[in-house]
Amino acid sequence: DLLVVGSANADLVIGVDRRPGAGETVLGSDLAVHPGGKGANQAVAAARLGARTALLARVGDDDYGRLLLDSQAKAGVDTVGVLVGGAPTGVALITVDPSGDNSIVVSQGANARLTPGDVRAAASLLAAARVVSLQLEIPLETVAEVVRAAGAGFGGRPGPRVVLNPSPTAPLPTDVLAACDPLVVNEHEARFLLSDAPVGSSDDPEEWADALLSRGPRSVVVTLGAEGALVADGDRTVLVPSPAVTAVDTTGAGDAFTGALAWRLGVGDDLPTAVRFAVRVGAAAVTRAGAQASFPSAEEVAAL
Ligand code: ADP
Repeated sequence: DLLVVGSANADLVIGVDRRPGAGETVLGSDLAVHPGGKGANQAVAAARLGARTALLARVGDDDYGRLLLDSQAKAGVDTVGVLVGGAPTGVALITVDPSGDNSIVVSQGANARLTPGDVRAAASLLAAARVVSLQLEIPLETVAEVVRAAGAGFGGRPGPRVVLNPSPTAPLPTDVLAACDPLVVNEHEARFLLSDAPVGSSDDPEEWADALLSRGPRSVVVTLGAEGALVADGDRTVLVPSPAVTAVDTTGAGDAFTGALAWRLGVGDDLPTAVRFAVRVGAAAVTRAGAQASFPSAEEVAAL
């Protein structure tokens, strides 16, 4: 039902008392290695909820690539679209200080080698999906090719619905923006996309949602952390509150939210209904440490 096209990274995490300055060395904690990357996270989030999910991504022919393939398979993701080789697996080098603030250096590695040609070669995966979920940790031209193929359809049948989380932020081509149904942004991404307009400095998320909608996407979802999420579909703009939880670690909450949302749209929920489910998934994910390790099962969401 769901195809995620996006990144897969190994997250290498070291706790530090403070970050090193230029030319300085500091000692940190033992190294922790976790599967991550927005694409891989979204696919695991959806599959853990019970979604039939496939991932189109690229990893290196190395231990981190095998770690990522393994974590996808364990979650139940179809990994036939995970291509291997061409560059080392993408890596995020993460230092976390005692206040929980992190500094991150990303080496895109194989993610930067996922090409439009790879998308064309995976046409059967796209044709089989009801929804395709995208982020921007792979080349923009690859994202644009997915949008083009989804819009063209397959043998007279319509292609999958497109969900896009434009993270990390980048200016979006008009045709990519126009295909989004919905465009899913957090506060930072909303402000970035609206930075050329006065509304970008507004403090009213409803104004962001309406302004983003006027840029061309078919619908917009603005996630608001503990507040939940705003849904704008042209008919109305509504706030879907998040369940109140004790937040332990918000890493990956946005990916869990978007993976869950895309899946529910794929099985026929309307947008507000899918968002009501997704805020519960996001809330459950912040109650546990880690990214993929924190993603809930359907039973855990129901119990929330
Ligand atoms: P991102 O992780 O991309 O910055 P948000 O912080 O908006 O995105 O979180 C995404 C979703 O995760 C929210 O819409 C909400 O459902 C859930 N969430 C995040 N933080 C909390 C929190 N402190 N309490 C409850 N739900 C949360």
